Amino acid sequence: MNYDIIIIGGGASGLLAAATLAGKGRKVALLEAQARVGRKLLSTGNGRCNLTNRNAKPSDYHGARQAAQYALKCWPPKRIEGIFDDLGVPCVADGEGRVYPMSHQAASVLDALRLACDERGAETLTEFEVTRLTRQGNGYAATSKDDRTATGRCALVCTGGLAAPKLGASGKGHDLLKALGHTITPRFPAIAALVTSPNAVRGLKGIRAEGMLTLLAGGKAVREEAGEILFAESGVSGIAAMQLARCVNEALRNNKACAVRLNLCPEPVDIARRAANLPRRTMEDFLSGIVPKRLGQTLVKASGIELTRLAGSLTPAELHRLRDTLTGWTLPVTGTLGFDQAQVTAGGASMKDFDTRALRSLRAPGLFAAGEVLDVDGDCGGFNLQWAWSSALLAAEGIERYLSE
Ligand SMILES: Cc1cc2nc3c(=O)[nH]c(=O)nc-3n(C[C@H](O)[C@H](O)[C@H](O)COP(=O)(O)OP(=O)(O)OC[C@H]3O[C@@H](n4cnc5c(N)ncnc54)[C@H](O)[C@@H]3O)c2cc1C
Repeated sequence: MNYDIIIIGGGASGLLAAATLAGKGRKVALLEAQARVGRKLLSTGNGRCNLTNRNAKPSDYHGARQAAQYALKCWPPKRIEGIFDDLGVPCVADGEGRVYPMSHQAASVLDALRLACDERGAETLTEFEVTRLTRQGNGYAATSKDDRTATGRCALVCTGGLAAPKLGASGKGHDLLKALGHTITPRFPAIAALVTSPNAVRGLKGIRAEGMLTLLAGGKAVREEAGEILFAESGVSGIAAMQLARCVNEALRNNKACAVRLNLCPEPVDIARRAANLPRRTMEDFLSGIVPKRLGQTLVKASGIELTRLAGSLTPAELHRLRDTLTGWTLPVTGTLGFDQAQVTAGGASMKDFDTRALRSLRAPGLFAAGEVLDVDGDCGGFNLQWAWSSALLAAEGIERYLSE
């Protein structure tokens, strides 16, 4: 079957590009490997879909930041909200600028995109895993695993990154681009829990605390994040910790040792005064009320103080040590969880091979790409979907121009 455009990958960027181009009267085929389109979208924002962020700025992006900057300028969050409003999904924002559908259901975002594709006549072919993308005449032929073929005057690769393979992620899109002359930059998890020595966090699994995290790479503080810290079996999780994963993986790739410093007492507490006020309190309970009890006991032990001691018996040096641990407990970080547990991929198809304005390939004529398959990743908070939408819209404009040339 011959189309104007074949779009490979029916995730966030592929769906919006398909709906947009079909809306312009283009004959569009959306080729999706899985049985259903947009599975990852359903899991975003804990099922609520944090679809953009009103405060998005270039520094929220990594990798080819200038591409994100251009996409943000052309398709800022407010315009993206307008697009979703037009699709039947009015949006609301929280105090941090994170934007959600008014329904607070990711399913309504996916439904709106799916319905728009259908209503506008885009053809969706599911269980169509593209294993080969080749030049055919002036256009492209995409061949599926089971040997079906779709051809188009141009092709748009929207296959996403490597994060969350259970939701369909694979490196196949990168392979398709590589075969057409593109460079793939090193890929690693960008938003994922941090792995520390298991002994350090033993017994803390499931405990949550508010605090500040500082990532130390090669002994230097490189990034700081505040928020809820969630202790996990193999380390530290929660949004604030996961935001540090990109820096950890980058530093470890450069052979720099990493550690995370936890300030679990963001409001100042006078530990010496507390000990003077509560002299008969055993150290087992001494920090309860500041942090969860079990965490308090771990911090006491990490300060080299026995849990059976009474607070009134601590020496000034011990009180000092305890305060330092409470505000600067430092755990060596050996890595992050892998793509299985990660939300986003750093690295991907190099933007050096694309014209930033149209996301048009400089290596193969009539080839375009959008979304996470490219070497752009954002922080947590709606920035990655903002990139998926804005890059899809830039590519759709580029394709319109290409087809009219
Ligand atoms: C659990 C989780 C929660 C997240 N929450 C948020 C959030 O709240 N806000 C936010 O901004 N970001 C969030 N993200 C990140 C965001 O979901 C992604 O950045 C975004 O979906 C990327 O869009 P995409 O279109 O590039 O790729 P995807 O949405 O991953 O879509 C790619 C599609 O291509 C298909 N595909 C792959 N290879 C082929 C092939 N060879 N042939 C055919 N089809 C193929 C896949 O099956 C998939 O459907 C979250 C990610 C995860 C994993």
